[in-house]
Amino acid sequence: MVNHTQSTKTISLEKYGIKNAKINYQLSSDKLHSETINKNQGVESAFGAIAVNTGEFTGRSPKDRFIVKDDITKDRIWWGAINIDFDSDKFQKLYDKVADYLSEKEVYVRDSYACADENYKLNIRVINEYPWSNMFAYNMFLRPTEEELKDFNPEWTVVNAPGFMADPEIDGTRQHNFAILDFTRKIALIGGTGYTGEIKKGIFSALNFILPVFKNTLPMHCSANVGKDGDTAIFFGLSGTGKTTLSTDPDRSLIGDDEHGWTSENTVFNFEGGCYAKVINLSEEQEPEIFGAIKKGAILENVIMDDNGNVDFEDTSITQNTRVSYPIYHIDNIKTPSIGQNPKNIFFLTADAFGVLPPISKLTPSQAAYHFMSGYTAKVAGTEAGVNEPQPSFSACFGAPFMPLHPAKYAEMLSKKMKEAGVNVWLINTGWTGGPYGVGSRMKLKYTRAMISAVLNGDLGPYNYEDYHIHSVFGVAQPRHCPGVPSEILSPRTTWNDDEAYYKMAFKLSNAFRENFSQFEAYASEEIRRGGPQRYGY
Ligand code: ATP
Ligand code: MN
Repeated sequence: MVNHTQSTKTISLEKYGIKNAKINYQLSSDKLHSETINKNQGVESAFGAIAVNTGEFTGRSPKDRFIVKDDITKDRIWWGAINIDFDSDKFQKLYDKVADYLSEKEVYVRDSYACADENYKLNIRVINEYPWSNMFAYNMFLRPTEEELKDFNPEWTVVNAPGFMADPEIDGTRQHNFAILDFTRKIALIGGTGYTGEIKKGIFSALNFILPVFKNTLPMHCSANVGKDGDTAIFFGLSGTGKTTLSTDPDRSLIGDDEHGWTSENTVFNFEGGCYAKVINLSEEQEPEIFGAIKKGAILENVIMDDNGNVDFEDTSITQNTRVSYPIYHIDNIKTPSIGQNPKNIFFLTADAFGVLPPISKLTPSQAAYHFMSGYTAKVAGTEAGVNEPQPSFSACFGAPFMPLHPAKYAEMLSKKMKEAGVNVWLINTGWTGGPYGVGSRMKLKYTRAMISAVLNGDLGPYNYEDYHIHSVFGVAQPRHCPGVPSEILSPRTTWNDDEAYYKMAFKLSNAFRENFSQFEAYASEEIRRGGPQRYGY
């Protein structure tokens, strides 16, 4: 695939209030790579990929994500701790300050778009303070052709100034960093943070509003791939549950690893043009495709290297959230354009650190809706002192931080689409087996892959009593056998070797489900509520 050469077009930023900037427009990936090195903002790793440090922030900052409350948003958005409102006049003042800050500076501008389906294309102009952030935009958004650039009409603008620090007292932010969406001005304004994920998740959040409200399309925090027969599979899941890992499958063409839309024309399309993979403990043996994508053009973030540029993927001294971004064409087996047909199978991925959910189970339509609204995964005890037990983490639609509408909206759309398409829904626990975090171990990637392949190859048939066991606490259908997987692993209780401890923990989790779901009781039909756990501990 093309690595676009430099554009000959020139643009002005005066209309953005950015004056006398030295504009680097549409630089090639190679050029941005060398600019990053020349400016001492990154070094080349032994892979050929550039390595940068994103600075103070090595992850998103959800408490500093705001949405401007205006005529478009005020009655539509589900306002609260996730979607925090921001005043429109305050936004203008803050925007002007950022534009002033970027004036007279050297900036990097790139025209790109989101949504691989022509009918849903969203043109984006990205204005960055740093060359590597602009290279991230090259990697992650879709790349217009030279022809398309000629009369390119940007609809949304991302203004990204990591070096600009807000003054909360005056600017109305919580602290010095912020990511603010304005649907009237069509701007994503990001300052005080260099974490590149804010750029892609800013546009994702905008699309999560635009597509359902105006285009009758369900936006999804999921990865997707397609088999040789054109059968699409999608994988929902919160961070770290395996969307990127499991969608990158040599036997199936990758559609995308994180953000997709499901249209009313029965298609699924990728929003993005690249992948953003976690690299903690990455090994060539276990994840050869992702490993191979780390070459010139890719950007490693917050990894530790030796003097020869060799990366130590085990080193988490900067962060656990070490990453690499790469354009999707760094993966060999991809679907071009990044569009598939209606999914045949949907996987809900969860990293259950309680170790009680089966590694694979089949969900009824009610259970699917219930689990989608719940969006369960677990946080493992980190480095925080005193936290020794896993913590349940519920995030509606498997992506609440990016969903501006009430979760019930997305859940309704998904239920309807699942019914129409007649999909099978599977719950996959990529987390712990043989006990909770600290006692058991993470499910072997090899086994998770085998379970998914079994589904996709049609080796796990429809529910029947012979082949499945109904889990006594969660009510889900647990297959008794699966090719490539020892049968005893399929029953989490068996792997614990201690029924009492197992059920105690299972009830702990089912109680957590119930407590979390109480916030949705009023929105959920009887049918959806029936999809929850069957038993609770008292
Ligand atoms: P994000 O939304 O933050 O991009 P993600 O859902 O794409 O997260 P991955 O990047 O795929 O998550 O992360 C899954 C991590 O868990 C990887 O580091 C992978 O190597 C590791 N892992 C270990 N065991 C498994 C397993 N059984 N299945 C999937 N991933 C596993
Ligand atoms: Mn991912």
